[in-house]
Amino acid sequence: MTDQINLTLPDGSVREVARGTTAAQVASSIGPGLAKAALAARVDGTLIDLSRPIERDATLALVTAKDEAVALDLARHDFAHVLAEAVQHLFPATQITFGPSTDDGFYYDFAPPRIEGKERPFTDDDLPAIEAEMRRIIARNEPLIREEWDRDRLVAHFAAHGESFKAEWAAELPDGEPLTVYKAGRGDDAWLDLCRGPHLPSTGKLDPAAFKLTRVSGAYWRGDQANAMLSRIYGTGWLNKKQLDAHLVRLEEAAKRDHRRIGQDMDLFHLQPEAQGSVFWHPKGFVLWRALEAYLRRRLDAGGYAEVKTPQLMAARQWEQSGHWGKYRENMFVVPDEIPSGEDEGPIFTGTADLLALKPMNCPAHVLIFRQGIKSYRDLPIRMAEFGCCHRNEPHGALHGIMRVRQFTQDDAHIFCRADQLIDEVRVFCDLLDVVYRDLGFDGYAIKLALRPDKRFGSEEMWDWSEQSLRDAVAATGRDTAEYRWEELPGEGAFYAPKLEFHLTDAIGRTWQVGTIQTDTVLPERLDASYVGEDGARHRPIMLHRAILGSFERFIGILIEHHAGRFPLWLAPVQAVVATIVSDADAYAGEVAAALAKAGLRVETDFRNEKINYKVREHSLAHVPYLVVVGRREAEEGTVALRPLGGGEQRVMALADAVALLAAEAVPPDLRP
Ligand SMILES: [Zn+2]
Ligand SMILES: [Zn+2]
Repeated sequence: MTDQINLTLPDGSVREVARGTTAAQVASSIGPGLAKAALAARVDGTLIDLSRPIERDATLALVTAKDEAVALDLARHDFAHVLAEAVQHLFPATQITFGPSTDDGFYYDFAPPRIEGKERPFTDDDLPAIEAEMRRIIARNEPLIREEWDRDRLVAHFAAHGESFKAEWAAELPDGEPLTVYKAGRGDDAWLDLCRGPHLPSTGKLDPAAFKLTRVSGAYWRGDQANAMLSRIYGTGWLNKKQLDAHLVRLEEAAKRDHRRIGQDMDLFHLQPEAQGSVFWHPKGFVLWRALEAYLRRRLDAGGYAEVKTPQLMAARQWEQSGHWGKYRENMFVVPDEIPSGEDEGPIFTGTADLLALKPMNCPAHVLIFRQGIKSYRDLPIRMAEFGCCHRNEPHGALHGIMRVRQFTQDDAHIFCRADQLIDEVRVFCDLLDVVYRDLGFDGYAIKLALRPDKRFGSEEMWDWSEQSLRDAVAATGRDTAEYRWEELPGEGAFYAPKLEFHLTDAIGRTWQVGTIQTDTVLPERLDASYVGEDGARHRPIMLHRAILGSFERFIGILIEHHAGRFPLWLAPVQAVVATIVSDADAYAGEVAAALAKAGLRVETDFRNEKINYKVREHSLAHVPYLVVVGRREAEEGTVALRPLGGGEQRVMALADAVALLAAEAVPPDLRP
């Protein structure tokens, strides 16, 4: 065994170094700039601490802030440790448990200190002091040192320090394997946590101005309601202050755009506890729904889809056949096929009836329609669409406004096709989806291909072919490019097939997965769907599950937040309000409103005896796109003063011109000349 090893760097160059050299030492030997910038290293692809000795020939890549996703995750993980250390400095009787990084920061769960026998959970008032302590720890630039301990030492350490949660956890770890702890600082009394790592080399690598503690909530130990309630402290963490500030602005902007708030301001819908997760659409909200639905229906009609409507309730045995009963039942609303007892006393149901379930998805019912009558290869593709109302049973706590609900309407369709039609069908779908997103005011979206997961049905040949077909289809549209952030996601496909995902970017840079198309050969097999091929034999069709919006409820929520309630005119629930300045203009204002309504516009009137500025403010708040103001002069001259939402310039014009202008703008994008 020689004492030298070869490290291959990303540029292909090879460095011969002493066995046991660390990545930090390699960085220093390349230059002081890199030594300072290095945060961690990848050795043969595995992310490790800079301070780990490298014992064998390997590829070595140094990770810097340029590798942003990795750097962010490392920093957030470090922030979580610093948070835990800070809390224990300030509140020594607190026990630590666990704290991971999150999409925008980190959290840590603590067993709060007991003061005079009573628990003292943390509150938002504690956060400023904890933040200040975190900054002191960062300023001390404590090295984060990895050590390998055996299980018994860990258990003994945590037990001796009164850390009963950590001791319980450690006791369940495998015996005999080295476990890693990270110490903040040298010395026997340094703060430490059980952790797989890796970490940044020291707390000083964190930017003290790049984090903020955001809130405190409750969380159960190990996520189990039967266990102790812990205090979870959340923070957001970034690489620098600029990133943090941008994030805080985004949060503020997101709060302003909250669809629940705008939905109330515009009187679109409401929710109430008597119908958890099901939306009450008010007249104005349903106007928006209908405009969106009508638009999409026209696009589907033009795209060769046939629309169907299928049952809400189907027998349990049907769901057994499709596989949902076995795999998906906990998400289904199950009801007995029985007339309930009308007696006041005694049980409502006998408990002996057959069971039915509300559909959680439309797919099986569409296969049942496909199976009616004999299908020939010439009948394919069949594009079967349904604005299908589905129910999925989700816990109350998981529900969120109209974005996450229990009753929703999918813009669902299933395309039954032959293998030789697959690429074309996927390509045509991608083009349709592109047009719809642009029409609805989104100009950016990402396309991702989710590849085979570990647990899956079907042969490797089927997977190879399906994945390649989806890849080829996107390539055929020319959208497998950086502009569409095209990427492949290994392991993220459904258990029966790969899928394309479409992630919309909204006005404030957030992304929403909405559209999807996936190939499926399993369900046609399970439900025995077939067609007669050119060879006269029976073949299985391929079934493509696809949606553009996902669900109307969630998509309208996204639309509200994307447009901040200021919808393009064709979608606005109320397109114009005719408002009078003086009461003697009432009669003329009525004529104006009638002329607008006759041109197909959704118009309201405001003849109240209020100052015009008051009316302007109120209708602006309700995001009405146009205010049509009329006073005595307009009445005499047959004109109107048109005021666009958001304080654009007021323009006085002849009534007929105003009607023509608004009517032209209100035409849905697919009907424009
Ligand atoms: Zn850690
Ligand atoms: Zn489906």
